[in-house]
Amino acid sequence: MSASSLATIRAQLQEERGRLRERLHELGLGADDALDFDGGFADSSQVTAERGEMEALAGTLNDTLREVEDALAKLDDGTYGRCEACEGPIPQARLEAKPAARLCIACASKSR
Ligand SMILES: [Zn+2]
Repeated sequence: MSASSLATIRAQLQEERGRLRERLHELGLGADDALDFDGGFADSSQVTAERGEMEALAGTLNDTLREVEDALAKLDDGTYGRCEACEGPIPQARLEAKPAARLCIACASKSR
């Protein structure tokens, strides 16, 4: 993959990482934020339901953030673009569509 493609992908990943961290922070569930809800409303079932939704959303955001950070680490150590399962190259078109992709198309469809 060309250096300019890698630079574009790195910029996309960094932007995505910033967005994810911001979203988590807004939820009060970022890495540095304790799970802290107003005690006065803790017993309301509506809040419980909302908290469940927020935790599910935060879980998804955290998973995505981890994938993005892994992809950035791989860019740094030069292993970016290699399938984690078969170690074959991941097609550039797939990486451009999904920069944090861990698997090539064949392995991704197998793991489903
Ligand atoms: Zn593979």
